[in-house]
Amino acid sequence: MSSSEQPQPQPVQPVQVLYCQVCTYPPEYCEFGSSITRCKEWIHDAHPSLYDKYYSEEALQNKLGTLSLEAQAKLEKETAKKEAKAEAKADALLKKKMASQVTIKRIERNKRKHVTAIHGLEAFGIDLKKAAKFLAQKFATGASVTKNAQGLDEIVVQGDVADEVLELIENGAGVLKGVPIANVDVVEDKKKKGGD
Ligand SMILES: [Zn+2]
Repeated sequence: MSSSEQPQPQPVQPVQVLYCQVCTYPPEYCEFGSSITRCKEWIHDAHPSLYDKYYSEEALQNKLGTLSLEAQAKLEKETAKKEAKAEAKADALLKKKMASQVTIKRIERNKRKHVTAIHGLEAFGIDLKKAAKFLAQKFATGASVTKNAQGLDEIVVQGDVADEVLELIENGAGVLKGVPIANVDVVEDKKKKGGD
């Protein structure tokens, strides 16, 4: 144990705390004061490296990055909202389609003459004129698109072909493809006879 091995006491450097000469906060808190412009000027001149740390292009970019994360979250929220809206719309459309009814009405004009009116095909994306043409050819009879009493378009086919039309729809024949048979009704429209 020689005296020469005595540990040299290391002088402890006091922690240098820098305070802004303008606002008296530590420089990282300058932005919370009310003199940021003058603070920046002071830091820029007195402590260029700190200026770079807090206010350089890169530092600002990082800050913007944080901001854009928030913006992104907001955007995502809005996008989700929009998506939900679109989904609801598509859902409503599908529901409407599912609820859409095709009516094949067998109409008795007189004892020997019938016509068949088909209503509601357009809800399933069927071109009524094409469908009328298709049916006219199929049954070698007249078929046209006319407005019914409610002012809605329907196909009127000459003759009683209600069951045949139902079958064609069931088989998805030609332009009649895509109509769920469960959505198709055949109804009778007989001449009034005073009760069923
Ligand atoms: Zn300051």
